[in-house]
Parts: sequence; C-alpha cells; structure tokens
Amino acid sequence: MSKEAVLLDGSAKSKEIQEEISIEVENLRKKAGVIPKLAIIFVGNDPASESYIKLQQKICSKVGIESEVVDLPEEISQNELLAELDKLNNDDEVNGILIQMPLPDHIENDKVIRSINPAKDVDAFHPYNIGELVIDGDAYVPCTPEGVMELFKRYDIKLRGKDVTVVGHSNIVGKPMALLLLNENATVSVCHIDTEDTASYTKESDIVIVAAGVPNLITVDMIKEGAIVIDVGINEVDGEIVGDVDFENVKEKAGAITPVPGGAGPMTIAMLLKDTLKSCKEMLNN
Ligand code: NAD
Repeated sequence: MSKEAVLLDGSAKSKEIQEEISIEVENLRKKAGVIPKLAIIFVGNDPASESYIKLQQKICSKVGIESEVVDLPEEISQNELLAELDKLNNDDEVNGILIQMPLPDHIENDKVIRSINPAKDVDAFHPYNIGELVIDGDAYVPCTPEGVMELFKRYDIKLRGKDVTVVGHSNIVGKPMALLLLNENATVSVCHIDTEDTASYTKESDIVIVAAGVPNLITVDMIKEGAIVIDVGINEVDGEIVGDVDFENVKEKAGAITPVPGGAGPMTIAMLLKDTLKSCKEMLNN
C-alpha cells in the first residue's frame, strides 16, 4: 500500500514564478524604461475563451506586463485578420502575440500560424519554433508542455532514462511534450486515439502525462505503484472542472500527481508571462 501521492502544486509554483517575473519586469522598467507587452488576438465571442483571456490579462497586470486584446468579429475575412496580425508583428511595443484558438471555420489556421512573427510567437505555434524544438534549439516552446517541464524542474523530478508515456498527440500539447522529454533523454511512448492498448504503456511507465480531453481516461489499474502522474486535461463535468485522470483513486497509488484545477493550468500561464518577458529582453538586445 503506497502512502498518498505528493501533490504537485501548479498554483503555488506558478505564484512563485510570477513573483520572480514581477521582479524582473520592475528591473527592466527601471533600467531600460520598457514594459513587456502581450497582444492577444480574439476572433468571435466564445465565452470560455473570453474568460480565459480575462484571467491571462489579470495575471499579466499582476506581474506588471501590459496586455492588449485585439477583439475581432467572427465574420472577419482571412485577409483582414492577417492584416491585423501584421500590425502586431511590426509593432515594436508588442513582444508576444497569442492567437486565441479555435478560429472560425472560414479561416485557415495554418495560414495564420505561419504568418506570426516567430520572434513574437510566445506559444510556439509557428513551424520555425517547432522545428527548433526538434533539434533542441533555443526558441519558444508551447506553453503547456513548457509548464509541465518547469513543474518537473521545480520538484526536482529527474527525467533522464525514465520511461514516460504521453497520452495525446496534439500539436500544442502531446507532440511538443514528447520532444521536450526526448531532449532530456527520457524514453518516451506516445499514445493517442488509435492506440490499441494504452494501459499496456502507462502501466509500465515511471511518469504518465495525459492530455486527451477525456474525463476518467486514466484509472488506477493503468498506473504503476509510485508513478508520477501529470494531468493536463480540462473537462467540464456537471458544472465542475475535472482532468483526464481518476484523481481520487490514482492518488492512492501514484508517487506524485497534479490536481485539476491547480496543476498544469496555472503553469501554462506562468510560461506565457516568462516567454513574453524573454521576447522583450531579446528585442532590447537586437
Ligand atoms: P486535442 O483534442 O487536440 O487532442 C487530443 C489528443 O488526445 C489527441 O492526440 C487524441 O488522439 C488523444 N485522445 C483522445 N481520446 C483518446 C483516448 N481515448 N485514448 C488515448 N488518446 C486519446 O486536445 P489538446 O488541445 O491537446 O488538449 C488536450 C486536453 O488538454 C484538453 O482537455 C484540453 O482542454 C487540455 N489543455 C489544457 C491546457 C492547460 O493549460 N492545462 C492547455 C491545452 C490543453
């Protein structure tokens, strides 16, 4: 019988990072007279996106980062959207650009993503940044997997030689997560919707990272005793936010586990701030 898992407290670690960032932002303002700025392009009026953007803005202002939401109507044409993006790409006061997904169906995601200035692409949508990730270069990394890596670092969880399963292979979470782990010399398996027996991978793993968007996908029988379990999933069930892991039962067997909410989510926002600050510093040096 294992003792109860260590709770990997993303909210607490995120606050710690926010404090570090606010000190750096203040120093930058005093020394260089510059305030980092994040611009968020928001097309349409999806309520979940709207409340997430409000939260991002609130945390930006807490650490002294300026934020601007470019609110665009649902029916905006692709060319008009690209023109708005271009303005931000060329605005010297904007350091980070985030495009709130999903975009409406008539807009080609790929075209928009390829039009972000890679130097301001703080959530690493652009193929340039993803390519740098493949070769372990120094570029932006998608904020959610970057946040998971930061959580490992802050809890001193070693990755070299560990068997890790990532469940989910999206471009923004699963795939970059797997690449970041490979760059640290973990042995990585990636499961997805067409994997025949996901449990056969997770059961053997020292670390399991789940980003599928399926409540209760990972049950206690799928986890090795003492494993580290990172739940990236965000699902609404009966008005409550839950992850992809059966938290109550898995926490009795795991060695460490993230809660939902309060795990990967707050780390994502912290990384967005960190990358906006990084962009600002790099723009000053160029
Ligand atoms: P997505 O829908 O783009 O991808 C889902 C992935 O899960 C796919 O690779 C799919 O093959 C896989 N999958 C689906 N059902 C599966 C199953 N039964 N077994 C194994 N694999 C399965 O989603 P996404 O954008 O990667 O997001 C995944 C989850 O993470 C969602 O719940 C999302 O809300 C959440 N998310 C959280 C954060 C955060 O900040 N914490 C950020 C991004 C996404």
